[in-house]
Amino acid sequence: MKVLKFGGSSLADSAGFSNVAKIITARTTRSIITVSATATTTDTLHLFIETEDKFSAKELLAKLFQRHKRIVDELKIEGSGALLEQFHQLEQILIKHWEAHHSADVIDQHLLSEVFSAGEYLSSYILHALIKSHGYSSHWLNSRDAIIANGPTLESKADLVASQKAWKALSLPSNVHFIIAPGFIASDEYGQACLLGRNGSDYSAAILANLCDANALDIWTDVSGIYNADPKKIPQAKLINSISYREAMELAHHGAGVIHPKTIGPVRQKGIPLTVKNSFAPDDPGTVIAPRCSNDAKVKAISSQGRISLVSISGSYLCDTYGAAERIFGCLARHHISIILISQSSSEYSVCFAIRQQDAAIAKHALKEEFARELNQHQLDPIDTRPNRSILTVVGQGLIQEKGISSKFLSAISSGGANIEAIAQGSSELSISAVIEDNQLLSAYHRVYAEFFDRKRQVDLFILGCGNVGAELIRQVQTQRPYLDSKGISANVRLIANSKYYCADDALDSIEWRPMLEQSKESLSNEKLQQLLLSGRYVNPTIVDCTCSDEVSANYADYLDMGFNLVTANKKANSSDMDNYRNIRQSASRRFRHFFYETNVGAGLPILKTLDSLLCSGDKVHNISGILSGSLSYILGLVEEGIPMSQAVSQAKEQGFTEPDPRDDLSGMDVARKILILARELGAELELEDIELSSLLPKNFNSTGSIGQFMTSLPKIDEHFATLFSKAKTDNATLKYVASFENGRLHVGLQQVSQDHPLYDIKGGENAIAVYSDYYSPIPFVIKGYGAGASVTASGIFSDILQTLPHREQELA
Ligand code: ADP
Ligand code: ASP
Ligand code: MG
Repeated sequence: MKVLKFGGSSLADSAGFSNVAKIITARTTRSIITVSATATTTDTLHLFIETEDKFSAKELLAKLFQRHKRIVDELKIEGSGALLEQFHQLEQILIKHWEAHHSADVIDQHLLSEVFSAGEYLSSYILHALIKSHGYSSHWLNSRDAIIANGPTLESKADLVASQKAWKALSLPSNVHFIIAPGFIASDEYGQACLLGRNGSDYSAAILANLCDANALDIWTDVSGIYNADPKKIPQAKLINSISYREAMELAHHGAGVIHPKTIGPVRQKGIPLTVKNSFAPDDPGTVIAPRCSNDAKVKAISSQGRISLVSISGSYLCDTYGAAERIFGCLARHHISIILISQSSSEYSVCFAIRQQDAAIAKHALKEEFARELNQHQLDPIDTRPNRSILTVVGQGLIQEKGISSKFLSAISSGGANIEAIAQGSSELSISAVIEDNQLLSAYHRVYAEFFDRKRQVDLFILGCGNVGAELIRQVQTQRPYLDSKGISANVRLIANSKYYCADDALDSIEWRPMLEQSKESLSNEKLQQLLLSGRYVNPTIVDCTCSDEVSANYADYLDMGFNLVTANKKANSSDMDNYRNIRQSASRRFRHFFYETNVGAGLPILKTLDSLLCSGDKVHNISGILSGSLSYILGLVEEGIPMSQAVSQAKEQGFTEPDPRDDLSGMDVARKILILARELGAELELEDIELSSLLPKNFNSTGSIGQFMTSLPKIDEHFATLFSKAKTDNATLKYVASFENGRLHVGLQQVSQDHPLYDIKGGENAIAVYSDYYSPIPFVIKGYGAGASVTASGIFSDILQTLPHREQELA
């Protein structure tokens, strides 16, 4: 004998019933079939009984029955008259129950059990009639005659011994193909109706499998088995082929709604294999749950449970008092409150446990009564209940042997900024759970999934600014996709914004983003970014600032506080006042976020990274001098070759070497910001005002007016520069616009450099820095290379982006 169970998701409409009938009749083995109510029916029955107004309640019920009648009509069941008569009688009983419920002083849970299980009766009636109309013999069995249960009426537990007796007393016909029975419902020892808990039809099926010594139990649902995460949360979740009874029980207990947690007990007792199968893809193999499994992955799956309250009891009473825990948990047990997770401090000063939110008020009240004396005498602190919590759990047989799983699990959760309020590692060591706030769940779920199951290292990019550099970066990310794929890295552009609007789409990489952005009418705000982040869809979300906007840079601490990594080419924030500079770094370290800005100095040249490694290895930097402006390096290179200054500036402007207004480069402010950033990297606490800055433009030259006016007046300084350069030449030297940090002082200006100076040859847009340190002295160490332009800057940003990826030391599953 085999037992099959079909859930409400498989029986949503007439097509669902036809499909189920097909699955059943294709397997002609003698079977018991247990069914749930059609999808949403149980919730409607709850609403019906809670509706105060009789007319509205009846109307709700009538609609429910009409829906079921429509299913019968559409199925074209022969001789459906008897079936409709059964419906009519059930509807009348439910109306009588509504009247009794609303006129009684005390709630009768047996009556409620009859009401809530009406959906299971309706679907079992329909399926029984449908199977018969297909020409198969079928017997309808009232599960109340077979399953005897005890405990809380709406969440009873089967008494397998009493049920076995009841089963033996049944006289089931031996010659029928199928026995159809409603799930969810049972009788207590007095024969009154009771329920097996929400989602309990799985459990009904397992009990029936136990009673008839079935050789297999199949639970048919709307997914192809048990996945390593809820496929509704993680679409790329992977199917688990086989899982042990204990692991399945742990997963179900911690919220993997695919099977009811009590389902395993009755089949485990008799060693009956259980398969979870998809009624919409019946040929898929499904997941086999059996005593042992062939899949020895260390971490098998993650699951979560929402709507949890975390209760903490603390105070001196708990120290060294024998039986304190017994009093707490005994009190909860008397009120039928089940505890999902317990965590106790090693000092025994506090106990904290998680319960369902709906039980929290009763639990608090009961505990206050139980500990009234201790609370009054301040031996206990006021009982603390925190609602809106979720539990996130990883499950796997291998947790026992494997080191480091807890630390990976907990750091994956906290890397998203979630605060872990309680931790429990099951004594079975099959699971580790953490309690966090509900609104952090989705993001933590994704992070934990990525940590344990996603072999790919991923970064999701939010690109602010899509001018030359931003657009080039997007192009590079798109072009590099195949190469990164081959290295197990996935870098995805998820959002692009310009100063006015933004567009966000998970497929931004594969579509033309420019028309999409042009059509957008939405501007980006911090609230919007926060909202996107909370959707939990993004892995390793990283904001990339390709603007030169003050406004964007003012948001850095907020971005990091939200939980983004930050990569920036914009120098504004790092050269702002020291308080802001520190603040950004504090946000990054508080939220364990990355903040990278290599392109702030020398575009793509690895200057900051190198300095950092030097300092980490114990070197002391005494002096830095550098040519940090590609445009000035280009202009002065031309002047050195004899081209007048005005022409050199025009040429640089035409070739895109300068900012649209060349004065932004010639003023030296851009260079000043860079040397300040370098000095701060070396620990100097200096401000922009501390820099001795001499503009490249002579003091007496009037550089005001429009860009055009400025360019026209430029020839006035040609003579000045020609003289300076010819003088330098006579000294066997040349002129460079040099930034230096020496003896704690910053200087930026035109400087004569001799032929043996490391910066003597730097021209044509090149950048260079010479670093004099303990290890590199008297010959400095020099980094030089092309230091301007969209391609090198974008590639420097790209390299920073890749630094945000987590390291993978080993694969766990
Ligand atoms: P039924 O109506 O058949 O009883 P349920 O809705 O109760 O179906 O259970 C199936 C659902 O369980 C799936 O649609 C899925 O969203 C959810 N689920 C949660 N965790 C898991 C998991 N680890 N594997 C598969 N499904 C899961
Ligand atoms: N119909 C019940 C519920 O919705 C039982 C079940 O579906 O298993 O909880
Ligand atoms: Mg279910």
